[in-house]
Amino acid sequence: VSTDTPPSGGLREEYEALSDQVRKYRFAYYNEDAPLVSDAEFDELYRRLEELEALHPELVTNDSPTQEVGGEVSAAFAPVEHLSRMYSLEDVFSLDELDAWVKRAEASIASIAPGSKVQWLTELKIDGLAVNLLYRNGELVRAATRGDGTTGEDITHNVLTIASIPRRLKGENLPAEVEIRGEVFIPSKEFARLNETMVEAGKAPFANPRNAAAGSLRQKDPSVTAQRPLSMYVHGIGAREGLSAASQSETYELLKAWGLPTSPYYKVLDTYQEVLEFIAHNGEHRHDLAHEIDGIVVKVDDFALQRALGHTSRVPRWSVAYKYPPEEVNTKLLDIRVNV
Ligand code: NAD
Repeated sequence: VSTDTPPSGGLREEYEALSDQVRKYRFAYYNEDAPLVSDAEFDELYRRLEELEALHPELVTNDSPTQEVGGEVSAAFAPVEHLSRMYSLEDVFSLDELDAWVKRAEASIASIAPGSKVQWLTELKIDGLAVNLLYRNGELVRAATRGDGTTGEDITHNVLTIASIPRRLKGENLPAEVEIRGEVFIPSKEFARLNETMVEAGKAPFANPRNAAAGSLRQKDPSVTAQRPLSMYVHGIGAREGLSAASQSETYELLKAWGLPTSPYYKVLDTYQEVLEFIAHNGEHRHDLAHEIDGIVVKVDDFALQRALGHTSRVPRWSVAYKYPPEEVNTKLLDIRVNV
């Protein structure tokens, strides 16, 4: 099953070995900000786990990696309970899989709300670190990593060093309480400069902007974070009290007016054909963007439909991430086959 765990007899053992390997890679990625394999290799392994579960659903338990938001809470930070749960995203790796996902979503919507017209909010999938900002009466009171989705790590002091994240929101009629979710990242140009500085200082350069962003944000000393060129784009909200918006895109407009950094790249589209064009366009211009992406996120824009579609224990049913084919693949793990 794996490079370091030879396949053993039973299916259960096989499944456990694969699960353990996914957990080990997640720990290195989320807790140590030092991945042991490429994302493409990880995705391949994870996909095998899902395939095995599809063939043998009896193997799935509540603590299977596929049932959890993959993330760790390090003892180095104070734990923070999110007011509302943070989720991951369902991944698809081909346009055929995306077609199937869209058809399923449209069929569910047709049965929940017959005759309604879906609008698709399409965004870039920013390759960074998910962060939850809690504002009370317009004041930033806490910032946390996603962690396992229920509990994150308190990184408030570090987030306060990021210039684009306002300590106080602008405007009137601010909600009494709102959780704002987004991605902290290092823009591509800044990343190149940061690595030059690291090398000049005799230190090892970062492997990629995602690791650099995660490592920079999860520092014990905020003065280190302050020296790193971190940016953020918001891409969702959690708990909210006193916020009236009917859709995700309407919420982005509000967040922008409050002074929060929204992405200049998102679009609200009426047809699936336009979604495909958005994917093709950004795939082609991937390296002209200000930050790295690993795909496109497609969301049902309307909040009423989002609520009706709901969530699994790991992902919302109203959103999907289309992953572009990897640009360079370390093939070390690709020969591994699951014996079923
Ligand atoms: P994910 O990264 O595929 O998707 C969920 C996350 O996407 C959200 O939590 C959010 O932070 C982020 N995101 C970025 N742009 C977004 C947008 N516009 N809208 C909404 N969300 C947006 O899922 P995951 O569970 O965080 O982790 C899986 C990813 O991490 C995969 O890409 C996987 O390859 C990688 N990973 C790699 C390793 C490794 O060892 N290399 C280990 C674990 C995970």
